[in-house]
Amino acid sequence: MKTAIYPGSFDPITNGHLDIIKRASELFDRVIVAVIKNPSKKSQFSLADRVEMIKKCVPGVIVESFDGLLVEYARQKGAKTIVRGLRAVSDFDYEFQMALTNRKMAPTIETIFLMTDYRYSYLSSSFVKQIAALGGDVSELVPAPVAKKLKKRGE
Ligand code: ADP
Repeated sequence: MKTAIYPGSFDPITNGHLDIIKRASELFDRVIVAVIKNPSKKSQFSLADRVEMIKKCVPGVIVESFDGLLVEYARQKGAKTIVRGLRAVSDFDYEFQMALTNRKMAPTIETIFLMTDYRYSYLSSSFVKQIAALGGDVSELVPAPVAKKLKKRGE
């Protein structure tokens, strides 16, 4: 059974994330979407909200939260692969650093990158939050339950 972990903040999940989850699910027997509990990164949605939104959007996929070292979490889950998405060149530096650091700590765990679909190359959670905060329509950018939640927040 080949398990992959797709970790991220998912604050909130967007159509870009969804696309990565769907494509990773074609490659692995089991994909665990792992929501990072990162106290140093301020998030708009609580950990529980972020997990719940993903569960609503991708039924059948395992969604969990975790804190501590990602490679430790992956080991616990029996996962040999970490999946990340890549958009523009601007993602590269951070992802490169993270992948090499994780490899240093856990040489048997591989990070693989799925290139974004051209439809989502500009799409980020922070962009979505900014648009929603200004009263813009995000229904084309995020799954329906997320759009609903963002709209509720703005009211
Ligand atoms: P993090 O805080 O860990 O970067 P994010 O939720 O912002 O968490 O992103 C999780 C992963 O999904 C990252 O690898 C990021 O590059 C990727 N990602 C985010 N948005 C998109 C998108 N529109 N298309 C493809 N990958 C994406």
